[in-house]
Amino acid sequence: MDAKIVDGWPQGNAIRILLTNTDSAQVNAVRRALIADVPKLAIHKVNFTQGVNQDSKGEVLESVNVLPDEIIAHRLAMIPIPTIPEEGIHFSDQCPNCIDLAEEHKGCPSCQVLYSLNIQGPKADAEEEYKTVYAGDLTTISDQMFDIRDEHKRIPLTILSKGQFLELYAFATLGRGRDHAKWATAAAIGFRPQQIAKLNKPKKASILFDLDLKTSDGKQIDAKLFGKDKTVTDVNHVMDLEAALHQVGPGTNRDGDFDDAITFEEVENAYVFTFETDGSLTPEQAFNSAMDELKARFENLASDIERAFA
Ligand SMILES: [Zn+2]
Repeated sequence: MDAKIVDGWPQGNAIRILLTNTDSAQVNAVRRALIADVPKLAIHKVNFTQGVNQDSKGEVLESVNVLPDEIIAHRLAMIPIPTIPEEGIHFSDQCPNCIDLAEEHKGCPSCQVLYSLNIQGPKADAEEEYKTVYAGDLTTISDQMFDIRDEHKRIPLTILSKGQFLELYAFATLGRGRDHAKWATAAAIGFRPQQIAKLNKPKKASILFDLDLKTSDGKQIDAKLFGKDKTVTDVNHVMDLEAALHQVGPGTNRDGDFDDAITFEEVENAYVFTFETDGSLTPEQAFNSAMDELKARFENLASDIERAFA
């Protein structure tokens, strides 16, 4: 299998990769590895402070909240935690420092990332009625490289009214999507055979060209796009054309005149693979990690078979 990132990608956390010299079973194995096997960090344990506090001015604050603790813990779990594969964070059950410890003593800088949050509702004399608590309010106690990324700081967690406070410690650990969705690295993972577009009837295709549509990178959709050999091979342009063809497809009342003026042909053993990460990992890191997971699994399988027949 050969992998090549399609020109112009990744865009944000989304990516298109052209996989060639492969088949659908192999590509699907990569898809499944991305869903279930690629490790990433997510908040797995939260300690809430409960009780009544009095501040220096005598204002009484209570640890009550509109949302139950379980819901807040769940919302914390879904925040993308920056995961840096080369930092070598261990799974908590495989951590060399903690492996022999009792369950309640497990957890060290090598296997967990620690955050704290301490927010109070608006002051008694404040104008606003409530205050929103955001993911960005989490303070990293571990290394700063694990700070919640700017693009995720505005994820709302809950609101606090006057006289309320929220104080907690959150522990992020490494996990896999197969155990819980909070550890799922990527979403919207799909693949399709690579196609090339063919211009069969240039005259009839003018019904589409006259619509003045553009490709996602701003090129005019016209006969020029197809060039001398009357084909489009560029992966992005083919997908743009596919979308554009809905304008002349069934139900548009243009399909009769268009008369399949442009058709698509599948390229053998080639697939366009698309997905988007939640931002914990870059798409490249997630893809490479999926490959490593698959490689490790097949190496184990090979040695298991050897042992079985020994
Ligand atoms: Zn540890």
